[in-house]
Amino acid sequence: MINFNVPPFTGKEMEYMRQAVENQKICGDGAFTKKCSEWIESRTGTKKCLLTTSCTHATELAALLTGVGPGDEVIMPSFNFVSAADAFVLRGAVPVFVDIRPDTMNIDEKLIEDAITEKTKGIVPVHYAGVGCEMDEIMDIAKRHGLFVVEDAAQGILAEYKGRALGTIGDFGCFSFHETKNVSSGEGGALLLAHEEDIENAEIFREKGTDRSKYYRGQVDKYRWQNYGSSYLPSELNAAYLYAQLELADQITAARLAVWEQYREELSCLQEAGIVELPYVPEHCKQNGHMFYVKTKDMAERTALIDFLKKNGILAVFHYVPLHSAPAGLKYGRFHGEDRYTTKESERLLRLPLYYGLTRDQVSEICGRVKEFYGR
Ligand SMILES: *Cc1c(COP(=O)(O)O)cnc(C)c1O
Repeated sequence: MINFNVPPFTGKEMEYMRQAVENQKICGDGAFTKKCSEWIESRTGTKKCLLTTSCTHATELAALLTGVGPGDEVIMPSFNFVSAADAFVLRGAVPVFVDIRPDTMNIDEKLIEDAITEKTKGIVPVHYAGVGCEMDEIMDIAKRHGLFVVEDAAQGILAEYKGRALGTIGDFGCFSFHETKNVSSGEGGALLLAHEEDIENAEIFREKGTDRSKYYRGQVDKYRWQNYGSSYLPSELNAAYLYAQLELADQITAARLAVWEQYREELSCLQEAGIVELPYVPEHCKQNGHMFYVKTKDMAERTALIDFLKKNGILAVFHYVPLHSAPAGLKYGRFHGEDRYTTKESERLLRLPLYYGLTRDQVSEICGRVKEFYGR
């Protein structure tokens, strides 16, 4: 049986967690949190990284920092996980969904400007599968209309757009370390801040509205309640686990990219025959092997392929019921323009198993079964 995902494990996690216990500091913002933040800062070039309990929480923090409020509008794709929509709906804002590009499954940058109203405050591009959105165009639109940009880079660690790390191009970037992501602490995330002037407020929102971060650094002699906030810092045990994975992140990424390449090679004959479509990565994007998918003819064919693979011990999955057609999307958001691709393409997309440790033989077996399904 081949699982869809096996959480990454590199070997040093237990040792680092033991060290955290021996340090007698297991709450947040200890030595391992610092190591993780510094690693992310040095590898991405972001001004400041704050570890969080999830990508959803990183996005909530970003939403707090943008100052959006009731009635404000935020543009995002409907083909997305719920986090970005949740974070802004919690502030009373309205997610305005626009269509995706069928090639990358990312927000169609050409449709954003038409969705802007006098209530629009920001744009939340999602780098699907660790493949960058067209950030030059998006940043240009944001600049001309005075909008903020929060990058949902949940799947984007160590991926790049035109040589820049995903998550560092907008005003804020959000990473996920959920167990389904390339590097993981089970649950976890990070907020990347592009602007020096956001750092102090971000630290306060993250620490229950207090200036405890300053107090820890010896910059104030007591910490006090400064603003509203919440608790977004992960425990040191999570950070210790994560640090073991960050240390080997290049190795994990390389292994995932090798699996991705093998899928592409072995399945390209199906694409050439016009039977399925495979992921497209623009020349100027460096992806990170987060995901490999095939797009079938339609939903019925996808269901049949999932069943066929399952009968043969292979677990493949689909995801993202478009947000605008989900109950909360109908209640809190709206779709601007025509849904040409969001629903249609989401119904065709099937993700194949991809995890650190998946072997060449397993990938061949999976590709063999996919080809067998199509009588090849
Ligand atoms: C995984 C994921 C999230 C949520 O991450 P959590 O860490 O589980 O909160 C958000 N957006 C996208 C695109 C994701 O893939």
